[in-house]
Amino acid sequence: MNKMRKEKKILDIIIVGAGPAGLASAIYSARYGLDIMIISKEAGGLASTAHKICNYPGFNEISGFELMNKFLEQVRNLNVPLVYEEVLKIEKNKDKLFVIETYENKYFSRKVIFAGGMTRKKLGVKGEDEFYGKGVSYCATCDAGFFKNKKVAIIGGSDAALTSAILLSEYASEVYIIYRKDKFYRAEKAWIQIVEQNPKIKSIFNEEVLEIIGDENNKKVKKLLLKNSGEFDVDGVFIEIGSEPNLNVIQFLNVEEEDGFIKTNKQQQTNIPGFYAAGDITNCNLKQIVTAASQGAISAFSCFEELKKEGIKK
Ligand SMILES: Cc1cc2nc3c(=O)[nH]c(=O)nc-3n(C[C@H](O)[C@H](O)[C@H](O)COP(=O)(O)OP(=O)(O)OC[C@H]3O[C@@H](n4cnc5c(N)ncnc54)[C@H](O)[C@@H]3O)c2cc1C
Repeated sequence: MNKMRKEKKILDIIIVGAGPAGLASAIYSARYGLDIMIISKEAGGLASTAHKICNYPGFNEISGFELMNKFLEQVRNLNVPLVYEEVLKIEKNKDKLFVIETYENKYFSRKVIFAGGMTRKKLGVKGEDEFYGKGVSYCATCDAGFFKNKKVAIIGGSDAALTSAILLSEYASEVYIIYRKDKFYRAEKAWIQIVEQNPKIKSIFNEEVLEIIGDENNKKVKKLLLKNSGEFDVDGVFIEIGSEPNLNVIQFLNVEEEDGFIKTNKQQQTNIPGFYAAGDITNCNLKQIVTAASQGAISAFSCFEELKKEGIKK
């Protein structure tokens, strides 16, 4: 029997991640006429979990979900292939091609735009994993509706923590923000004002969670054990203490880092030729949708210029 040998397809660019950075880079790359695809675990990224976005130009106020759907719609209109797979490993082979491995497939490309973003940090306390989905949540936008007329706590003091509290106050009867510092140093003034004026939201400063405790059958969250005030009854706890970059898939590439993030130059190029990074995963100080989208666009442009220099594109 004749064994058919499957030819491997070599793309100009593979974009990893379908958050604002990945989707913006796809829009630009597709419009440059490059042969591309996006591989992502899911579409929309962290941005789609934001309750209210009031700082993305062009929209006074829009939910993260709605805004990311608009990005996605534009990508779909440009017929960019998007596969929902988890990337396990990115390597460069002896032919200087990137090999992107998922559970299901191996893909090959000349350039990579890595826009893998970040994953929510855990508190690291007893009960956190056990009660995940049983009162412990990392996404107010996804889960606020389950806490109608309940008492909830948000752990953290960033914009994400405050906007989660504002959203939860539309459902829950009592909302407590528990923060280990003495005031909200990192949050925007506009959000602090709204929180302070909301009668349902109370802030507890200089406090830390030591444990999340369940009910008698350990079926759902019942209370928190706090460092200074002891036991504190709650029905739900939302953990908003930041995120960390998803760097594990590039451990074989020896990509240079700065402060734990991928170091890029102004063209979004890393120290590995052909490997670009954009968005929250990079050493950019302002980790926002507008900067992620901008870096996505720049990385697409840089790839296009490089492919032209290499004579692959005209
Ligand atoms: C609650 C909250 C509220 C926010 N509010 C605002 C706001 O009001 N305004 C603002 O500008 N910013 C806001 N942000 C920040 C904003 O969401 C981020 O800056 C932005 O999403 C970064 O985009 P990104 O594309 O770099 O990463 P992400 O949006 O995180 O996207 C990363 C993508 O990579 C994919 N991915 C990761 N690892 C893999 C893998 N191994 N294989 C395949 N795919 C992978 C993920 O599935 C995801 O699709 C908020 C963030 C949070 C959490």
